[in-house]
Amino acid sequence: MSWLGALWSAADKARKFATEACKRLRNLSYDFYDRYFRRRYHTLVVEESLPARLKRRYLYVVQEDGFEEQAAMMCPCGCGRVLHMNLLPDQRPCWRLTTNANGTASLHPSVWRQKDCGSHFWLREGRVIWCSDV
Ligand SMILES: [Zn+2]
Repeated sequence: MSWLGALWSAADKARKFATEACKRLRNLSYDFYDRYFRRRYHTLVVEESLPARLKRRYLYVVQEDGFEEQAAMMCPCGCGRVLHMNLLPDQRPCWRLTTNANGTASLHPSVWRQKDCGSHFWLREGRVIWCSDV
């Protein structure tokens, strides 16, 4: 390899390293932003079906024929599972969804995933309030 080639490959390595470092830094700052500035869940109304991938910190409300059918969100513990909450009053269990003046949502009763991660929390005004009894 000529010195030019060696220089080139070193420059390429440096470039890759810098790109990787930038990416990490961006993810890190995004996490930070997510954690401290955007703690409330946004509410997103979708028609008929959920998207294949849910965004974190979004509460999805599935509507069909004008009826709120179910709410879904990524489990706030970070386990990556999707939580589904039925909103139809003739099915059990059933949650009541309240939309607040500031556009956030509240769910009643609390969400308790009794298997897997065991997350138990309230969603109030778009905020996750963990229950301490688990
Ligand atoms: Zn979880």
